[in-house]
Amino acid sequence: KVKAGLAQMLKGGVIMDVVTAEQAVIAEKAGACAVMALEKIPADMRKSGQVCRMSDPKMIKEIMEAVSIPVMAKVRIGHFVEAQILEELEVDYIDESEVLTPADWSKHIRKDEFKVPFVCGAKDLGEALRRINEGAAMIRTKGEAGTGDISEAVKHISKIRGQIEEFQPLLKDVAGLKAKAEELRIPIDLLKTTLENGKLPVVNFAAGGVATPADAALLMQLGCEGIFVGSGIFKSSNPEKVARSIVEATTHFNNSAKLLEVSTDLGDTMGGVAIESIKGSRLAEIGV
Ligand code: PLP
Repeated sequence: KVKAGLAQMLKGGVIMDVVTAEQAVIAEKAGACAVMALEKIPADMRKSGQVCRMSDPKMIKEIMEAVSIPVMAKVRIGHFVEAQILEELEVDYIDESEVLTPADWSKHIRKDEFKVPFVCGAKDLGEALRRINEGAAMIRTKGEAGTGDISEAVKHISKIRGQIEEFQPLLKDVAGLKAKAEELRIPIDLLKTTLENGKLPVVNFAAGGVATPADAALLMQLGCEGIFVGSGIFKSSNPEKVARSIVEATTHFNNSAKLLEVSTDLGDTMGGVAIESIKGSRLAEIGV
């Protein structure tokens, strides 16, 4: 319950990737509800071709000391010892992230064994509910991190919401509901509650490829409850302005006059890399 509380507080907000304390301060001033402390933003990890691990606790700590908003940090999928270390550091949230190199290709962290809350990525309803069943307190789309291409994040939120609708008739078919829960490898009660409520039982953010205020508002209009922005801010020519505009667009996602205002004269937004050009090295396809 306490874990769900922080996610509720972040709802409607923007969580920004930062690699230095100075960037964290810019993010906080721009209205970020939290920051994600990491050594390299996904756009640069993508280029590096190296193994990507948890960041040095020293840099995470510097960021924790520089801001008053919650600080998140990433661990590799299945790397429960990196998570133990970040819990000891007292970060506010852990992202068990496919952006880093997975430590375990078949098992995720048993997140219910930790006090610190976790966020995990998902591409569809089954994946989201498996992560929630393991103890995730927040779900985000996987998107395609580091590209500035929004299409994968759109695909993932549409799939999750579409499957909830598609499976709702099973509420009148106990055998069918049981079979679906088995197929998705989750407890039947978790599936039932989700279908009854018409939404995931935890907060569902967008992530992966958000680069402009319009991208953020698009995902909010599609039903996301908040936004993670990685490379989009500090790969743009005017990070302060882009950061503020993305926060405004996330808050006023249904107000087209406001969206026009905050989309105007932003300077160069992230160049990006179109998904079609990177076939074969998609982060979101890791561990399908
Ligand atoms: N994402 C990644 C990066 C993985 O390594 C795995 C491993 O199986 C998964 C997702 C899928 O896990 P699950 O099938 O439980 O959703």
